[in-house]
Amino acid sequence: MPELPEVETVRLGLERSIVGKKITGIEVFHSRATNPKSIAPLDSLTGSKILSVNRRGKFLWMQLNRPEVLLAHLGMSGQFLVREKRSAPEKHLRVRINLNSKDFEVRFIDQRTFGWLSVDQSNAGIPNSAAHIALDIFDPNFNRESVKRDLLNRKTEIKRALLNQEIMSGVGNIYADESLWLAKIHPERECSGLTNGELDRLLDSAAAVMRAALKVGGTSFDEQYKNVNGESGYFDIELSAYGQDGEACSRCGSEIRRIAFANRSSHFCPKCQVKRESKRGIKRK
Ligand SMILES: [Zn+2]
Repeated sequence: MPELPEVETVRLGLERSIVGKKITGIEVFHSRATNPKSIAPLDSLTGSKILSVNRRGKFLWMQLNRPEVLLAHLGMSGQFLVREKRSAPEKHLRVRINLNSKDFEVRFIDQRTFGWLSVDQSNAGIPNSAAHIALDIFDPNFNRESVKRDLLNRKTEIKRALLNQEIMSGVGNIYADESLWLAKIHPERECSGLTNGELDRLLDSAAAVMRAALKVGGTSFDEQYKNVNGESGYFDIELSAYGQDGEACSRCGSEIRRIAFANRSSHFCPKCQVKRESKRGIKRK
């Protein structure tokens, strides 16, 4: 499932290719490719010019020279490809965005059909459907202290809170496991039991693992995921926890464990990430 680095990689690729182009038509090939909340058919955007490509969390949208935006969510396996017009359609092609270019077009390909596009209204530059999504850690307006306060007040496990896109956006299952491993925090620790230092370490870790992923162009374990030029976005950097159950922890040599989490799993090192509540206010060595 695409997380922040993957979506940002797609955004950058689209931005490079399509800003300034005019949409000359949008063809939809699958009923689930248009979100039911779309305020108009996708094709109603024909004639508009693409001013910018933006992202909030895992939402992507094209700002147009009209009040509506073309909004997209990649879902589990969605990808945008910039393709030569003459090239054969992909098996899971769901939407084709025709542009005033004689060479290329944009294709939305999605095997599992959880991704979608929609026409949405925007307010202060943010589509209504993405308004509830919190800023991500790389946003210039990201407020670290307020996110830490929010996390401390949650009566839930830290992994669950990390995945909550209304506290901080962009982190999914892979980067949550990697961030917690790097910060040496057990995924099932209670938010309210974390110290200020642990929260800082966790946010620093989340930024570090996602920055590393952005550098190599995003990651995914879904072979469907590719960046906009069709080049595989498969992660080249080493993962320390996610999917590593049974392997030795690269820090201490203990065996990485996997435990059930929601409908998925959490991966962690039982030695580096101890599930004990620290006593807040008491300095630990
Ligand atoms: Zn370890």
